[in-house]
Amino acid sequence: MGKNRYDCIIIGAGPGGLQAAIHLARYNRRVLLLDQGGGRTRHARRLENYLGFEPASGKKLVDIGIRQVKSFGVEFKSEQARSLQAENIFAVNTDQADYQAPYIVVSSGARENHPLIKGMNRFFARTIFTCVDCDGYRTTNKKLVILGDSLEAFRLAFAMKQMFTRDITLILSPHSLPVDHVDLLLEEDIAFVAGKPEEFLGETDLTGIRLADGQEITSEVVMLSYGYTINDSFLTGLPLKRESGSNKLITDHAGESSVKNLFALGALRVGRAQAIIAAGQGAMVGIEINHRLLEL
Ligand SMILES: Cc1cc2nc3c(=O)[nH]c(=O)nc-3n(C[C@H](O)[C@H](O)[C@H](O)COP(=O)(O)OP(=O)(O)OC[C@H]3O[C@@H](n4cnc5c(N)ncnc54)[C@H](O)[C@@H]3O)c2cc1C
Repeated sequence: MGKNRYDCIIIGAGPGGLQAAIHLARYNRRVLLLDQGGGRTRHARRLENYLGFEPASGKKLVDIGIRQVKSFGVEFKSEQARSLQAENIFAVNTDQADYQAPYIVVSSGARENHPLIKGMNRFFARTIFTCVDCDGYRTTNKKLVILGDSLEAFRLAFAMKQMFTRDITLILSPHSLPVDHVDLLLEEDIAFVAGKPEEFLGETDLTGIRLADGQEITSEVVMLSYGYTINDSFLTGLPLKRESGSNKLITDHAGESSVKNLFALGALRVGRAQAIIAAGQGAMVGIEINHRLLEL
């Protein structure tokens, strides 16, 4: 096998890509794992819903995973996949080199869509959240503001009330709501404000949000509802089937996309996005690819 030829190339070292790498490397397969750094899991301050993992940051989970894959001989490179060609073998290009493999795992995740509001970095992932499944629990019985730009945020307000807290203000910008929707919010005792959020207030603890018109809304916790965009620019030109609306890749039960031998994991593929789900998908895909590599 040539220097840049692998059994499998995995793009993205979130929990999905890392778990696929662990499985494949433990069949003594030659695996390249490319990662550009960042990623949604690294933003998580405290993962509490991952079986067997004492609550800790997502960065810690990924750092442990990277040490683990290296211990089994995976080649880990801090490089960004720029493009991917599918011919009789896959070719992945980065700014540093070109690599080939008969199997590809795409586990490059997604990035948040929310606007950058002054003061956000102080509180992001501590008291400002983006993922209900991950952090909704932390809003229990707190004074919650939901920020969004679509009817998704409107629906989220009702869901949050059923699960976590009765004290909710919904702030929408630029979207306004039809009158009957506002009435529904009133009936549920959910406050509604149409306005542009300009700054998160508070020094160490979040105390509220200032809007462009000067209004200040008090708040202990915030849920952002702007969705996310998948990291797929290097897949341009491939005939991948996607879910309309989300643009996520459609895969079969084994995780294979509509391009043969190209597998997808985690936030990038249709389905729920959680660290433990991505890791489970990674294990499945690793086992599946190994079976295909076997010459029986
Ligand atoms: C603030 C926050 C808190 C969260 N908390 C939790 C939680 O408590 N529990 C939970 O289960 N989930 C949580 N999540 C969600 C979780 O991170 C994701 O749903 C899931 O882990 C996705 O994993 P992944 O492997 O698909 O992608 P990611 O973890 O996003 O990893 C993708 C990796 O691919 C890399 N990459 C992207 N493009 C390229 C490229 N072109 N070339 C090379 N590398 C590339 C990225 O740099 C990144 O390292 C949270 C998310 C956020 C944002």
